Amino acid sequence: MTQVWQTSPDKPDETIISAAADVLKGGGLVAFPTETVYGLGAILTHQGAIERIFRVKNRPPSDPLIVHLADPDQARDWAQDLPKSYFVLSQQFLPGPLTLVVKKRERVPDIVTAGRDTVALRVPSHPVARALLRETAVPVAAPSANLFGRPSPTTADHVLADLRGKIEGLIDAGPTPCGVESTVLDITQSPPVLLRPGGVPKERLEEVLGVPILFSFTPSPDEAAAKRAPGRFLRHYAPSIPVLLSDGTADALIQIALAAQVSGEADKPVGLLVPDDWAATIKEAFRSSRRPPILYHWGQWGDWEEMAKRLFQGLRWLERQGVSAIVAPLPNEDGMGLALRDRLLRASARPSSPPSADWGP
Ligand code: AMP
Ligand code: MG
Repeated sequence: MTQVWQTSPDKPDETIISAAADVLKGGGLVAFPTETVYGLGAILTHQGAIERIFRVKNRPPSDPLIVHLADPDQARDWAQDLPKSYFVLSQQFLPGPLTLVVKKRERVPDIVTAGRDTVALRVPSHPVARALLRETAVPVAAPSANLFGRPSPTTADHVLADLRGKIEGLIDAGPTPCGVESTVLDITQSPPVLLRPGGVPKERLEEVLGVPILFSFTPSPDEAAAKRAPGRFLRHYAPSIPVLLSDGTADALIQIALAAQVSGEADKPVGLLVPDDWAATIKEAFRSSRRPPILYHWGQWGDWEEMAKRLFQGLRWLERQGVSAIVAPLPNEDGMGLALRDRLLRASARPSSPPSADWGP
């Protein structure tokens, strides 16, 4: 049984926070909202609970978990040799959607870091997450509260669709404001390396640090590379149907949608993530089509923040409409566009065999 608690996102109900913290302290799994996506929490030091996170998500044990703290100062208890950039960045961006990879202290369990000598630390800004972390006192390890590889959960319904009955609790505080995961930055290296674009744009980090940040778009299909940059498995965030991408114009989107209609299952429509300002053009293009595409309104083209909020919601909604494929235009790389590109490129990657040796608990 999964107990679902409902609370306001701004003023978390204290009784609920205390009940959820008790479940966590007893070794249970509780999903909770953060400003990025819903997380699936377990107490950092509870070995059995952490093992269950990997099992219920079907997450490979080689993919380390992010450790959530109530405030940036708590890092001193779990990390060592914190570089100056930790303090500069935390001053500017924490609490917020930025995860910093730093050298771990021995007391951080190996299972959490997948055997690495580094740990990924994050201080979420969502009032519900903050209240919960203050109440548990011990940090909470939390990946996204979905099945491994699926689009991340931005509502409580998404969590239940993937994990109902498999976890003890879920705090429902409505849709998450940011909609894509945190930016993950490795600051054990100089210059720092962006491991995952996310809620804090790369340009803002560069501005504050005053140095360029390394980032490569090519996710790692092979096992050795996947170990160096964990979590960069090629296919991820993916619905159960193909995702096809077009260049960033209405015409290009129409062309790919037409091709998808021809090659897709004849009795199913195609689904489109459509920028609001293109919707009229797209509808007109398919006016006389026997099976017009199903449109999900994705926000104004170029408003990457609004589109980030709606991305996973759109992928999951179109999937539920029974479409044969989802077609989306690929945003530019500026600001949050980089995170959108990353998620879409990976959602559209063909299924391939996962890194084998240590796959699956
Ligand atoms: P999530 O699935 O949202 O929990 O994302 C966790 C991601 O954070 C992993 O897939 C890695 O990309 C990254 N990560 C966590 N811990 C580490 C670490 N110690 N070193 C490098 N990357 C990490
Ligand atoms: Mg995830």
